[in-house]
Amino acid sequence: MTESYKPCPFCGSNYVKIKPDDDYNHVWTIHCPRCHMVYIPYGKTREEIILKWNQRV
Ligand SMILES: [Zn+2]
Repeated sequence: MTESYKPCPFCGSNYVKIKPDDDYNHVWTIHCPRCHMVYIPYGKTREEIILKWNQRV
């Protein structure tokens, strides 16, 4: 499956990182290292997170 997600809505960086949070099960964080935006969507799978991210932006 091809993963494509939109850039950071705040600074336009394409290097947003999507990763599972180690401290909580089934919690994913989306972090932009450039402007330090952190978004925590609710979803169980990476695909779901990316979908929500893309719909939000
Ligand atoms: Zn950003």
